[in-house]
Amino acid sequence: MQHDFESWGGVGRAYGRGPSAWQGGWAGPVEAGPLGGVAMVRGENISAQIDAAAMLRETCEWAAINSGTGNLAGLAEVANRLADAFAVLPGKIELVEPAPVTTIDAAGNEVERAHGKHLVLRVRPDAVRRLLLTGHMDTVFPVDHPFQKVERVDADTVNGPGTADMKGGLCVILHALRAFEATPNAAVIGYDVMINSDEETGSLSSDALIADLARGKYAALTYEPSALPDGTLAHARGGTGNYSVTIRGRSAHAGRNPQDGRNAVVAAAELVLRLTRLAAEDITINPAKIEGGSANNVVPDLAVLRFNIRPRTSEAMQRFDGQLADLLAELAAEHEVQIHSHGGVTRPPKPVDARAQKLFDLVRNCGAELGQSIGWQASGGVCDGNNIAACGVPVVDTMGVRGGAIHSPDEFMIIPSLAERAALSALVLGRLASGDHL
Ligand SMILES: [Zn+2]
Repeated sequence: MQHDFESWGGVGRAYGRGPSAWQGGWAGPVEAGPLGGVAMVRGENISAQIDAAAMLRETCEWAAINSGTGNLAGLAEVANRLADAFAVLPGKIELVEPAPVTTIDAAGNEVERAHGKHLVLRVRPDAVRRLLLTGHMDTVFPVDHPFQKVERVDADTVNGPGTADMKGGLCVILHALRAFEATPNAAVIGYDVMINSDEETGSLSSDALIADLARGKYAALTYEPSALPDGTLAHARGGTGNYSVTIRGRSAHAGRNPQDGRNAVVAAAELVLRLTRLAAEDITINPAKIEGGSANNVVPDLAVLRFNIRPRTSEAMQRFDGQLADLLAELAAEHEVQIHSHGGVTRPPKPVDARAQKLFDLVRNCGAELGQSIGWQASGGVCDGNNIAACGVPVVDTMGVRGGAIHSPDEFMIIPSLAERAALSALVLGRLASGDHL
């Protein structure tokens, strides 16, 4: 049996002696010696476990099934395929009903929006140290979008909808866990895998599920594609919020009695101008669309304004909430209209705290052991990593494949990155199972 902690950078540290020690909690370092007296797993051994050809085959099969966020039949088919594939792992798989979600239609009415089911796999729920791995099965391409086919571009590249974002990433989760489960220390940690069906539209029907699963987890990994094709990870992220503001005035004849009307379009226009003045160093505001209005000879009684905000800090997010409430109350009074606001921040800002930074460092060190050089940079994008970080759980959220041009028909995945990233994750899991502290 090899006891080569040195190669893990762990310098002779070991924590406990197998599952019983874990159940007793983290008593701190004990005398050197691996958990349960078994050999530690090296990066090259993990890499040898990964079946790159199977990964490419599965990714292409899953990507060939349309699973746009609104395509419930396609999502159901992908969910079933995933449930079959993930059944090779220990634990229990469940398809979870989406939480109800409403949206505001062009007539200003609140209507329900249907979503697909979310997949959850729970492995060793009683382990003391538990992790969360998340991904999404939906894509941004609706069932009638022209981009549906997966095509090989060259030896190292495939082009197809959702190959990078993120069916390739789902395959990385599966094969990383398979490789990890084959390591001697796997049994000491537990994990949940959550694959939602609505990430691309803001995870509104899965955010409560994500928060529920994140609670109490030691760390989390999310499998969005790398921020750059070279494997660079996304570090801190801003947040995002989407709003629909419905303004109801009073209609009147534009010539006979315009003074009796209350013009909803004018109120919406003023709202747009005043909203843009709330933009600051730590928050951007994008008025995106105004619907409503009526014929030229009618004072319009309805307008719906949609806008997006991008707060960089929680402080900016909270400040905006207060400012918006004040602004809507003022405009309602000035224009004698009724105003209803729907929506809000769906993804809070994701700063990187000390523990999250340690997780980044761990990923980088594991990459180095595998000959992968891994850096990171801040990102303007958002994902489920924002929601997980908001629960106080350290997360690295771009553990998926290398690729690019996502959300466009040029989306591509770099084929060798499938096995490369699976080995990276398996090694990170192995390190967390051998007692690395965050
Ligand atoms: Zn994605």
